[in-house]
Amino acid sequence: MKTTTRVAVIGGGVVGCSVLYHLTKLGWSDVMLIERSELTSGSTWHAAGGFHTLNGDTNMAALQGYTIKLYRELEEITGMSCGLHHVGGITLADNQERFDMLKAERAKHRFMGLETDIIGPEEVKKLSEVTNTDGILGALYDPLDGHLDPSGTTHAYAKAARMGGATIETHCKVIETNQRPDGTWDVVTEKGTIHAEHVVNAGGLWAREVGAMAGVYFPLHPMEHQYIVTDEVPEIAAIIDAGGEHPHVMDPAGESYLRQEGRGLCIGFYEQPCKPWAVDGTPWNFGHELLPDNFDKIEDSIAFAYRRFPALERAGVKSVIHGPFTFAPDGNPLVGPVPGMRNYWSACAVMAGFSQGGGVGLMLAQWMVEGECERDTFAMDCARYGDWITPGYTRPKVIENYQTRFSVSYPNEELPAARPFRTTPMYDIFDKMGAVWGQQYGMEVVNYFAAEGEPRYETPSFRRSNAFGATAREVKAVREAVGINEVHNFGKYRVTGPNARAWLDRIMAGRVPQPGRISLTPMLSHKGRLIGDFTISCLDQETYQLTASYGAQAYHMRWFQQNAQDGVHVENISDRVNGFQIAGPKAREVLQACTRQDISDMKFLDVRRMSVGMADCVVQRVSYTGDLGYEIYCDLPSQRALWNVLWEAGQPHGMKPFGMRAMMSLRLDKFFGAWLREFSPDYTAAETGLDRFISFKKDVDFIGRAAAEAERDAGPARKLCAFEVDADDADVTAYEPIWLDGTVVGFCTSGGYSHHAGKSIAQGFVPTDKVAEGLEAEIEILGKMHKARLITTPLFDADGARMRG
Ligand SMILES: Cc1cc2nc3c(=O)[nH]c(=O)nc-3n(C[C@H](O)[C@H](O)[C@H](O)COP(=O)(O)OP(=O)(O)OC[C@H]3O[C@@H](n4cnc5c(N)ncnc54)[C@H](O)[C@@H]3O)c2cc1C
Repeated sequence: MKTTTRVAVIGGGVVGCSVLYHLTKLGWSDVMLIERSELTSGSTWHAAGGFHTLNGDTNMAALQGYTIKLYRELEEITGMSCGLHHVGGITLADNQERFDMLKAERAKHRFMGLETDIIGPEEVKKLSEVTNTDGILGALYDPLDGHLDPSGTTHAYAKAARMGGATIETHCKVIETNQRPDGTWDVVTEKGTIHAEHVVNAGGLWAREVGAMAGVYFPLHPMEHQYIVTDEVPEIAAIIDAGGEHPHVMDPAGESYLRQEGRGLCIGFYEQPCKPWAVDGTPWNFGHELLPDNFDKIEDSIAFAYRRFPALERAGVKSVIHGPFTFAPDGNPLVGPVPGMRNYWSACAVMAGFSQGGGVGLMLAQWMVEGECERDTFAMDCARYGDWITPGYTRPKVIENYQTRFSVSYPNEELPAARPFRTTPMYDIFDKMGAVWGQQYGMEVVNYFAAEGEPRYETPSFRRSNAFGATAREVKAVREAVGINEVHNFGKYRVTGPNARAWLDRIMAGRVPQPGRISLTPMLSHKGRLIGDFTISCLDQETYQLTASYGAQAYHMRWFQQNAQDGVHVENISDRVNGFQIAGPKAREVLQACTRQDISDMKFLDVRRMSVGMADCVVQRVSYTGDLGYEIYCDLPSQRALWNVLWEAGQPHGMKPFGMRAMMSLRLDKFFGAWLREFSPDYTAAETGLDRFISFKKDVDFIGRAAAEAERDAGPARKLCAFEVDADDADVTAYEPIWLDGTVVGFCTSGGYSHHAGKSIAQGFVPTDKVAEGLEAEIEILGKMHKARLITTPLFDADGARMRG
């Protein structure tokens, strides 16, 4: 057995084999896969082998598209068959909401280059005679959907990897992974120890156990899953005899997927009475066996399926496949460099290995070989969860994800399982005030405050929800008096030390402020992509406070650690420091009433330490609402005292609390971007306008400088713009196509209703040469075209007089 390798991939399921192949494809041939049994000895061997592109997340959908197109490449390289059947797929809609969702998906596919179609019930019937179309409003048709042979495909990946120089060691269980002081790994196996520069955990069903060998908790859980294969079905046999194939049919209402299998059918279910498997750990002796059939669990699902596909009831059951596979709490894979670890990579929780495995392999290989991926990977980055996550949280979330796998997912939806989990000292106070809660990165955040008698629940919807009135009230309070909300949804970092300034100058593209001042800056990757939009406050030459998105804490800390430098200490203080933002024309008077310090000379983008009531605070004069405002930070135990003094002082001025819905409406007035909406690694600073914060003057080779300079010289091909939309009851949320003269030229990044201006606003990318005030375009919302005009003048405080005054 080989005893040294650049990369040791642990696990020979479809995911491990794909990672191995992609590493060789990108040029690393000294790579090795270690499998405790034969290849495909985990969930891979009992997969139904279906694949599809449909995914609510656009980047996930693109990676699924890549995976599906890869199979032909694999067949060509290896001469092996993946058993491909591109039969096409139909996703049924039996209610308006689901049909809206499918239409929105179809619209997104336009700029992604995917040729999907919305079809009516008659066409569904034509494509799938076995489907009872009673009550069906329509469907989404995707010609790329299909199925394959799971084992053949996994072996094709393995062969292609071997052809690229990789080694595969089967019947070789990894029993320990021990890191050496230089960051390399001793991978201890039953056959001896392998010294590897990098370790990839592709342990699938055993990913938790493999992770524990390195002291890492992977937030994933196996679930039992069952599908049934029937005897011959005459309708299917007739299609085959005529040389045809039957398409896949996804019936979300029945939580089932159906496809042809031999001369019969195969149907699988995401049943409500689902069961987590191996709660306390996956047994090492599990492998090639199935779980006992469990028809009780799927009784209701079968009854529904008999109504939708009556031919099933007449067909005998040929076999039942019941096996486990793993999910992360949100159902997306956990991929990338594991935060807090060196040279340890995750390729776990891939719940749809045959739709996603190729994309996961490509992404991880790009990350390892080239240092970063070609697109935004946050939706499946293992850093989207922090060290706050626990098995007790993961399990109910995974169950919820399984149960809602086929549910309509709404842009404003807040899923209830495992909540409340993490709360701030304000939770009970805000709850008594009528808070309607959402969750970010495990933390409860106020979406809005319901008035007495209003429901304490926001209706999930693609259209304007019942939060509309409350959001309008909160926006009005901010713009006309003063609003208050918590700053708990900022990620906060303290950077200290003699080299703090030099380090910030290198890691941030913008100017590092002088003591007492604040600057806004993009953080760029080496290729010039946006990996953060930060606010830096300089408290003194060796002490800085940074703020950014709360949900990106592990993502940002990982980057800080990867770029660590002597003489600099970076601490994540997000949950140790909290406080409030007060914003609106009366904000100054409120703050002045709470402190003995004279704040009349505190300018926009100033930062000061001051006592506010009894609390020692850092006060920043800046506000994401675009209004006159202050962010006031204190340590956690002082937060309620700070609240008491601000709230009391605010009452004579009409102070109202406001939530995230109002915040997102207020920022639209100024066309401010949001992390992962306008600002993400899919975009560059010049595309989004954040290049105005880049300091090309500073004499520092900051990360991403060369790429940013090249883009400055060439100019970006597309630009982020704002549009006023003639919307009806549905505003832009994200990824709606932007049309010009009958052609899709761009897409929206986010949007919503500006309650201040009384207008529906969208932000999105269009080609640079089209950008002009007043440009008349159309935006497709839920399948309907709406007129939209490009606007460049902010809807509030266009000259900045209030914000800066
Ligand atoms: C009933 C059922 C139907 C499914 N249908 C579909 C479908 O239609 N389409 C689809 O895309 N997906 C489907 N799936 C999901 C699919 O099976 C998984 O997404 C996929 O198999 C995950 O692959 P993996 O490589 O991550 O994990 P696994 O297949 O579990 O592979 C992990 C491998 O790691 C090895 N290993 C673990 N620990 C060690 C160690 N310590 N040392 C050495 N080796 C180790 C194991 O032996 C195993 O071979 C289905 C799953 C089930 C259960």
